[in-house]
Amino acid sequence: MNVITCAECDGAATYRACADRRFACPAGHHLAPVDVDLDGRTEWAVDGTGTLGYVVSPSYSLDLIAEALGDLAESSGCADPEYARRAALDDAYTACLDYVAAYRCGVA
Ligand SMILES: [Zn+2]
Repeated sequence: MNVITCAECDGAATYRACADRRFACPAGHHLAPVDVDLDGRTEWAVDGTGTLGYVVSPSYSLDLIAEALGDLAESSGCADPEYARRAALDDAYTACLDYVAAYRCGVA
């Protein structure tokens, strides 16, 4: 998980989950979940310590895994099959790690 830092504290502080369903930095700046601005490939998450961050969207990770497995299946037809096979496995491995990171934060 990549942490989200407080802009009002110049990025020096992280947010933690609060009982009122918002996030707060140690200086008391608040952030509502609706105001967490991420692209469609990432989602906000809270880790086991209560720290706010973001992870790769599990659905995007699954798409990347499927794409990598497709590339792996077609790797024998490439000019350099071993390179294509390794690249596909690297892509699948990275996407799996992203999926596990999201799962550990309860997003997946
Ligand atoms: Zn702050």
